[in-house]
Amino acid sequence: MRNITEIIVHCSATRAGMDFHAADIDRWHRERGWRCIGYHYVVDIDGTIETGRALTEQGAHCAGHNRHSIGICYIGGLDEYGQPCDTRTENQKASLLHLIHTLKEQFPQAHVYGHRDFAAKACPCFNAKKEYE
Ligand SMILES: [Zn+2]
Repeated sequence: MRNITEIIVHCSATRAGMDFHAADIDRWHRERGWRCIGYHYVVDIDGTIETGRALTEQGAHCAGHNRHSIGICYIGGLDEYGQPCDTRTENQKASLLHLIHTLKEQFPQAHVYGHRDFAAKACPCFNAKKEYE
């Protein structure tokens, strides 16, 4: 297993209520020329936790941080006008908390961040570091 020191939360940058899934992200990332989906987990609108890339494999979701991190993406992150917005549903909030809690048990040395802590982006459109530390 890789040495995991960071759990990094993302949004899919899709509009509130748009019901995309891991298979869609997998397709988008392949269209970018990547091998497959860059995230390890996707949290759907209804709270379903889907698996993407295997945890043993390095992800492709945060430049300079992929080697030692796990990437989680919730579906949403934009409001109806396409502006950055915390669109997490109650089910997504519960699933994210559950998933992060489970990963923290598995990788106690890991800290939780949002993509925006490492890049000049709005992603994941809420303060993941504060909410999950
Ligand atoms: Zn991101």
